Amino acid sequence: MTNEHAHQRVDAVASATVSRFYVTTPIYYVNAAPHIGHAYSTIVADALARWHRLLGEDVKFLTGTDEHGLKIAQAAEAKGLTPQAFADSIAPTFKTAWQRLNIANDDFIRTTEPRHRASVTTLLQACYDAGDIELDVYRGKYCVACEEYYTDDELDDGYCRIHKTPVDEYEEENYFFRLSRFEQRLLDWYDAHPSAIVPEFRGNEVRGFIKGGLRDFSISRTSIDWGIPIPWDTRHVTYVWFDALTNYLSAVGYGADDAQYRKWWPVDYHVIGKDIIRFHCVYWPAMLLSAGVEPPRGWAVGGWLLFGGEKISKTAGNIVNPLDLIDDIGVDGFRHYVLAETPYGADGDFTVEGLTARYNADLANNLGNLVSRVATVVGKKCGGVGPAPAADSALSQVAADAYAATAAAWATVQPSRALEATWSLIRATNAYLEQHEPWKAEPGPTLDRVLGDALEVLRIVAILASPSIPDAAQAVWERIGLTGRVEDQRLPSAATWGGYASGAAVIKGEPLFPRR
Ligand SMILES: [Zn+2]
Repeated sequence: MTNEHAHQRVDAVASATVSRFYVTTPIYYVNAAPHIGHAYSTIVADALARWHRLLGEDVKFLTGTDEHGLKIAQAAEAKGLTPQAFADSIAPTFKTAWQRLNIANDDFIRTTEPRHRASVTTLLQACYDAGDIELDVYRGKYCVACEEYYTDDELDDGYCRIHKTPVDEYEEENYFFRLSRFEQRLLDWYDAHPSAIVPEFRGNEVRGFIKGGLRDFSISRTSIDWGIPIPWDTRHVTYVWFDALTNYLSAVGYGADDAQYRKWWPVDYHVIGKDIIRFHCVYWPAMLLSAGVEPPRGWAVGGWLLFGGEKISKTAGNIVNPLDLIDDIGVDGFRHYVLAETPYGADGDFTVEGLTARYNADLANNLGNLVSRVATVVGKKCGGVGPAPAADSALSQVAADAYAATAAAWATVQPSRALEATWSLIRATNAYLEQHEPWKAEPGPTLDRVLGDALEVLRIVAILASPSIPDAAQAVWERIGLTGRVEDQRLPSAATWGGYASGAAVIKGEPLFPRR
């Protein structure tokens, strides 16, 4: 993403009246309990949704679960359950995990819901009517865990590269989506929408896939029945891509509620991991173009959070349960680490040491220390009543610059850069206090100005940091004597210098972030 693109996005946001913002996570496959890989995408999407709510946009944030397919049928059988009963037992564990992580999704879709079946049927029929779905025979090597056929050069001596297990030979009659016809249409579409994929290098990767040639892909099976039937040939059920990807349309009423569909589609961002980029950025827009549906406006593609250098997944056997780490570091400490530590798009190394270090540096030392210093001196020298900031404060321009950089980074889905920009304001304010040493000053107008400036920074920081640390931001807000909810503040006006009014009761309280 170039700066030019970033500025276009920011300008688009600033000039709109009440615009809507639709963001999604992948739907998570219910063959495993929620793990840190799921939590990563979900926290990024949640923070992005919270930022756009602060901008005053009408936001829809969707997550959900993927519940069909052979793996689910097999897992259910192993437990002596029907596939539906098995899915019913796993889906709530995702809802519970997201509540625990303070995820404020507006909707949760399950692919076994009737609303989803209706949209999948509509999309399949539209692609079939366009002539892009045809019956053919497939022979090939198939990884059951991936639910994907592979060519020999995509395998390591006959073993799946992801699962490191041998693949099986399959031959069957399938319906195919004629992806091979969409090479030029996709390249043309991406040429017309050069900033649709962030970070930019992932967009280049997608062009590379397309230019390398596209193969038709199978969309149906007759050998399984745990899925949605092909509407014109019910011996077949569709599986994987038409079933999973279509959730993004089902949740906005595609094929069922035209007013909702027109309001929310196309989606603003699909937040995804790099392992599903081909399906989301090549298969999905081709399916939509075939059906006469506008492709997504954006995709935000994250790397993997590695744990000891391995992708964190059930198959790799190295699951870190996010809930276990939250108990130790707190919800906000966990969210903040995930968002701030790794530039979005790159792979990150998740370590318990890193989690603790980030918590201590950003939350305990920088933000926590600033809140505690200011509240202590206001308590001792101002009778606990917060003074107003100076209109001509040296921190006013620092705050304006921090806001601009924070907004520009969120506009291109770079949470780590956004938080770095917000924290630069906290660090500058701690340095400002060290320079002026209000704890040594006599009560009076000079002292009041310094403390008022610091309180004003805390007001702005509470708003800008709230997508990452929603509960702690609200706590800071209340400590400095403000009423109402941080999440109800509206940017950019709420970030304008001078919003902190004198006279509020500043509360010292227990440390917000005790050192770990
Ligand atoms: Zn595999």
